[in-house]
Amino acid sequence: MSVDTVIAGGTVVTASSTFDAAVAIDGGTIVGIGEEETLPEGDVRIDATDQLVMPGIVDPHVHIDDHVSIDSYRTATSAAALGGVTTVIDFAWQAYESEEGPWDEPALIADGLQRKRANQREALVDFGLHGGILREGDDLFEEIPDLIEDGVTSFKMYTAYDFGVSNGYLRRVFDALADHGAVGVVHTEDDSVCRSLAAELRAAGKSAPEEYPQSRPDYAEAMAAEDAVRLATETGAKYYGFHTSCREAADAIARFQDDGSRVRAETCTHYTTLDESIHSELGNLPKIAPPIRTPDDADAMFEALRRGVLSVVSTDHVAQLRSSKENQPWWEGPYGANGVQVSLPVFHDEAINERGLSYPFLVRVMSTNPAETFGLPNKGTLDPGTDADIVLFDPEATDTITAEDNASEADYSIYEGREVTGRVTKTLVRGTVVAEDGEIAADPGHGEFIERDVPDWSV
Ligand SMILES: [Zn+2]
Repeated sequence: MSVDTVIAGGTVVTASSTFDAAVAIDGGTIVGIGEEETLPEGDVRIDATDQLVMPGIVDPHVHIDDHVSIDSYRTATSAAALGGVTTVIDFAWQAYESEEGPWDEPALIADGLQRKRANQREALVDFGLHGGILREGDDLFEEIPDLIEDGVTSFKMYTAYDFGVSNGYLRRVFDALADHGAVGVVHTEDDSVCRSLAAELRAAGKSAPEEYPQSRPDYAEAMAAEDAVRLATETGAKYYGFHTSCREAADAIARFQDDGSRVRAETCTHYTTLDESIHSELGNLPKIAPPIRTPDDADAMFEALRRGVLSVVSTDHVAQLRSSKENQPWWEGPYGANGVQVSLPVFHDEAINERGLSYPFLVRVMSTNPAETFGLPNKGTLDPGTDADIVLFDPEATDTITAEDNASEADYSIYEGREVTGRVTKTLVRGTVVAEDGEIAADPGHGEFIERDVPDWSV
């Protein structure tokens, strides 16, 4: 008896340990893990000598092909594949009516779901979709049960921007989600505080990119986080905080967290590895919301990750062009930064090489925890019976990050010139090599839309 593939000679990393072992794959599934001699022979043998063999990265926060990101599924999932990311969670947006908005008339999340699912033909890695709420409508409550049935088991809301929702509506949504065990995901910044500060800075002519972070301060993020977590707790809904960027917000979340069976949150790679001085170097290119903050806030992200207050590291990948962000006051131009292609090497270099954290920690926050948190039982693990989503990683190879390597449509990188030790050498999605030595190795369409379960957070 033989199997499709055996990955041998490498060091396996799981959420709990690191050990030398081979991995056997058949029909896209992991069928064995152990000493090579004890496993069936593979039709293909992948030599993983001097490589780490880890579950593929699960990035639960990316923006592809929508009103905030110019990437197509082909470009964004190519970037993901090259970065060792085997599953992403994007958004099925509601449409809302607005003068400057991208839509002419309101539409349902179900319409957004249909449109995004059609992207499967271009996808190289697997993807799920959060429901994206952009207006306060009653129609949402009618479609929630069907969406959950269709594998959309988490719903995102904003507390800021024109498409932000009020605390009253947030409460109604949490209440509805609690009935189904679904997850309420929130971008938390206090809108009126941010608007008033932005207006003051503009009136004072403070238009340089370095001034931008002052317009969206840490306390505005903490205020909105506190309100949102409190409301989720009162209604019994599962709460997941997006892109936590600062000590104040992490502390606010921690106060309501208890054992993590109700309240969870992420930070993003850039909040752990960059600080606001990046604006002096790159101008408006790193303009994101919440803003990149102080070195102390980056330290706080690691403290919170270690304590489990934060349990996931995502990218909030957004593709934009330089030309849309540069050479203008910070209040013009779009938010967002691309990062899905380099998140693993960048976070690895900071967490392992600089801060001495463990490889199982890396696997937990970038793969296992996001998979468990968002109802993906076949992802984020190397357990036999689960999908053979695997990244091979050379921990000694050194690269200098440059946007010239971007597979994304984005033509800049907030990590430009950063030297990192640790390189993705191979990415497998359900047993198929989709990227190898910096090149795409599979055809678009290999990626599949994954209908997610309602997650069990009691574990
Ligand atoms: Zn986002």
